Order: sequence, then C-alpha cells, then structure tokens
Amino acid sequence: MKLTRCLLALISAASLCAGGPPESLAGTAERLKAEAFRTHGAYSDLAWLCDRIGHRLSGSPQLDQAIVWAQDRLKAAGLANVHAEPVLVPHWVRGRESAELLLPTPHRLNLLGLGGSVGTPAGGLTADVVVVGSFDELDKLGGAVKGKIVLFDVPYAGYGRTVVYRHAGASKAAKYGAVAALVRSVSPVSLDTPHTGMMDYDPALPKIPTAALTIEGSTLLRRMQERGERIQLKLEMGAETLPDAPSANVVAELRGTEKPQEIVLISGHLDSWDVGQGAQDDGAGTVIAMEAMRLLHTLGLQPRRTIRIVLWTNEENGLRGGLAYRDAHRAELKDLVAALETDSGSERVKSFHLDLRKAPPEAKASALASLKGLEGGPMEPFAVTFQLGGSGADVSPMVREGVPGIGMEHAATHYFDIHHTQADTFDKVDRDDLAFNAAALATFAYALAQSDLRFP
Ligand SMILES: [Zn+2]
Repeated sequence: MKLTRCLLALISAASLCAGGPPESLAGTAERLKAEAFRTHGAYSDLAWLCDRIGHRLSGSPQLDQAIVWAQDRLKAAGLANVHAEPVLVPHWVRGRESAELLLPTPHRLNLLGLGGSVGTPAGGLTADVVVVGSFDELDKLGGAVKGKIVLFDVPYAGYGRTVVYRHAGASKAAKYGAVAALVRSVSPVSLDTPHTGMMDYDPALPKIPTAALTIEGSTLLRRMQERGERIQLKLEMGAETLPDAPSANVVAELRGTEKPQEIVLISGHLDSWDVGQGAQDDGAGTVIAMEAMRLLHTLGLQPRRTIRIVLWTNEENGLRGGLAYRDAHRAELKDLVAALETDSGSERVKSFHLDLRKAPPEAKASALASLKGLEGGPMEPFAVTFQLGGSGADVSPMVREGVPGIGMEHAATHYFDIHHTQADTFDKVDRDDLAFNAAALATFAYALAQSDLRFP
C-alpha cells in the first residue's frame, strides 16, 4: 500500500513523502492542526469538565459524573465501542482540617491533609513542633521528637527528589514517637497555597496524621525554631478512609481497517485531587486525548491499526485503573503497539519519551532512531523531539511487563507551581496550547497506526 511505504520511508530515512494519493502524513498533520485550531474542542470540553463537574477524587460523585460525561462526549464524536470498564477504587475523604499556631504567637496556617492520611482524634491534637530539614536530621534527634509534631521543611530540589518527604515523612516520624508529621509543600513556588498528594504508611509503624503546609508557613516555623522560640500547634484533621468505591476506566476506539487487533493506545487520567478543578492534572490530558480521537474521526481518517483511548480512574491515589486494565486486557498486551499517556499538564508538548523496560540497549537505540524519523516528517509542524525516558503512571503496570510506553512531555514551566492545589483551575490553561497538543497527539497516534513499526 502506497501510504504504508511512504510512512516507512519517513521513519527509516526521515525523508518527506512526496505526496500523491491518498495523502502524505505531513499533509494529514497540517489538516489535523488546522481543524484543532478552528474548533478548539479540547478547550470547551475542559471548561465543562472544570466548571460544571469540578475536581474528581476517587469515590466522589464528581468522578462518577465525569465518567458518564466522557462517554457521552466520545459517543457524540461518533467513536466506536464507547464503554466503561468497572474498577474498585480507594475512597479517602478529607473532612474538616485546620492548623492553628498557639505559640509563640497565634496564627492560622493554611494546610492540606495528604491523601491516605488518618485524621486526628476528635477535637484535634495540640503539641510542640520540631522542624527538621532532612531524614538525617530527624535520625539525629531520634527519641527527642516523641510526643511532638515533626515538620519536614525541605526546599524543593525537583519533584522526584523532594516528594520522598511527602510519601515517607509520617512513618519516619512515627518511628520516633511523633504524634503528627507536616511537610513543606513539594513545589518551587507558593502563593500561600498548600499542595496535597499521596503518602504511604509503613504498615509496621503507628499511623499518624500528616499534612502539607505552604512554603510560607513552613519557613515561618523554621525561623521561629532558629530564634529558639517554643512552637506549639493545634492540628485538626477529619480525614478517613471509607470502603472501596465503584469507579471505571472509560474506553473508546477508532477501529483499524487492516489490522484491528493491533492497538495504539492514547490516554490521560480522569480523576484528580479534591482541590481546585483538576484542570492541568489531568483534565488537560483527558481533553487532549479526547480531542485527538475526535479530530481523526472528523477528518474521516481511517487508521490501519486500531487507535484506542483510555481515560483512567484513580491515578492520584491508588493506580487501580491502570492495574485493572492490565489484568483485564492481559491477552491483548502483545498486540499493544504502544501505550501513550499525557499527564504533565497543558503547556505545549516538547517531546515524546519512549519507555522500553525489557529491551536491550541496542534495541532501544534502534527503536528510538525509527521514531526520530518522524521529527522531520509528519511531526515537523509540532517541533517535537523523541527521546528515551519515562512514560506515565497509569500505563506503568503494562510497561513493566514489556508493553512499549510513551510519555507525552509538556513544557511544564508552571506545572509544579500549581500541582495538586486549589489553584489548579481552568483559567491557567491556554486555548491554543490545547489545540496544538491535541493535533500533535492525533498526528503521532495516526502515524503509528498507519505504520508496521513494532518496538522491541
Ligand atoms: Zn496526573
């Protein structure tokens, strides 16, 4: 088939297809982009998701509404096989929470409990605060923190490096008898906005309540300690974990015309934290993937392989959606050409990261080289690069078993400024960025679906 030969030429030699019937992939890319910028469907979908449904934590009625809404939108777009696949998800609720500084001076601190935390006893708990800057400092204090609240005031040094304090701080402090643990928000920037996120208890240790303070609040307490002042805090948290709740992944397809059993999967996660509107995390990924499917269908493009969208549930506090999908679709994992995820916000895509866990280094290098052929071909209008790297949390259960993962990596210049905060709202998202990203994802998914490329 002529189209196939064109694509293979693009992939192997980075040469532009000379065109001719039916259409070059470069021409398809331009049409997808023009349609995305004409309709701005991703932007209006995101406005609805944010304004009329709102944030969507696992177990919440808003997530249930979003699952129904996404199916309605995908059906209205004319996609095939639109359905929900049931998943049981953790159901954590925040309840009322507050932090009141009693000594050395009365002051109310903004906080957000961490996902999975237990609550305080009814009426709250009052204790002295000890500020540490690392796990090493805590270890040196040891039993001296018994009966106290430990605050990890750790400056942001990149998300991956700093988030360990949010995940493990509570159990590290509980080991020495602390009654609660606070962490400085994992963010480079703060406008007195605390950042929530998941935490993990060590099952061998007592579970103590844990919450994030703002950078302003955390550094305030550190200065008080450095002046030798006694710091006393009243912490109140109504958090609790309820029985698992029913939820679902949302799935839809453009069926392949020649090799329908071979699947290019694109995805984002529908759930969010219970603050703000979950606009960039990951409302943006959700609507980019939905719009990519809609654009392909609207332009009448019929892929040789199936392109499937999955909108995941429970990325934020359990990953049950990704785990359930892997288990339910185990028989077809061998036919997954790639599992793509967009979960790094709404800013313009910069690169796609190929995540091959079971391939030897030479095989990875040659797989990457074949993708790089697209940079000067159909992906040229988007100026993206292809690299080796990580893919996404939801696809990771499959990727660990050898499915090729691909992460859509966005510029993310302000991603961690508003990540998991009340400020993750629709107004921060740029309309043209969404259209650009949807067209880029549609083009890439279509190029993979038209090719015979298989990653090792
Ligand atoms: Zn996310």
